Amino acid sequence: MSNQRSVEAVIAPPPPHMVGDGFRVHNFFPGTKQIGKTRMSPFFMLDYGSKIDFSPKDEPRGVGVHPHAGFETVTIAYHGKVAHHDSAGNSGIIGEGDVQWMTAGSGILHKEYHEEEFSKKGGPFQMVQLWVNLPAKDKKVSPKYQEITNNKMGRYNLPGEKGFVEVIAGEYGGVKGPATTFTPIYAYNARLKKDAKLDLSFPTDYNTGLLVIEGNIKVNGINAHADHFVLLKNDGEDFSIETTEDSIIFILSGEPINEPIVAYGPFVMNTWEEIEKAIDDVNAGKFGVLAD
Ligand code: MN
Repeated sequence: MSNQRSVEAVIAPPPPHMVGDGFRVHNFFPGTKQIGKTRMSPFFMLDYGSKIDFSPKDEPRGVGVHPHAGFETVTIAYHGKVAHHDSAGNSGIIGEGDVQWMTAGSGILHKEYHEEEFSKKGGPFQMVQLWVNLPAKDKKVSPKYQEITNNKMGRYNLPGEKGFVEVIAGEYGGVKGPATTFTPIYAYNARLKKDAKLDLSFPTDYNTGLLVIEGNIKVNGINAHADHFVLLKNDGEDFSIETTEDSIIFILSGEPINEPIVAYGPFVMNTWEEIEKAIDDVNAGKFGVLAD
């Protein structure tokens, strides 16, 4: 019997929109018809900033102070640099190949900007922001910040110098990633040479997809070009990627959280009452203080 996982859809990048003045993103989910708010659970949202050039600017572009609660924001930089400050007192700068994994949990204020020197110089900018939902039992955890610079990631080298897999969360080929997560998650960047083959396997019920950051690949023989998202079915475990160019692929798989989702703006909860509570808490100053 075959245990092959097949391709459900290859999704072209939806028209971009601006988040603040710093992030020009394509929302692959939950806004597309192929992927609603539960299809990729525990992943709730994927915003992809395809590569564009920002002109030099003295005052960094970005998004000012705003709240989050009930989930985690994961930001991955492929080109350019992103600066982060939050009301839990954490701050950091991530550059090319780095990841910041922020647990909003019970509630946090933060701001996200282009890093100052990058902003002054301008240049190519490319990033992903992923929202990872939290199960009801962990929605109220204290905010946390994991700065996962590239050198902290696990690295699995393919034979024949065909490239490598950076393991951010979970494991690949026995190599573990540094991110701590609340539900089982796999997150990798595969940086592959042309004519490489990467075999992947995740439990059948784990929702699985990948984003082609650079290059051109075939997933089980089906072509996917840069900036396209490939959604896999839940009909088996194993699939493979073959590259027809040097490629970078962001690969995601996770155990679904089978709980109700009520999302409103920057909050992802289980009920409307919890959304209203979060709004009240922000207004009461319970998410802390963060200067503009
Ligand atoms: Mn944010």
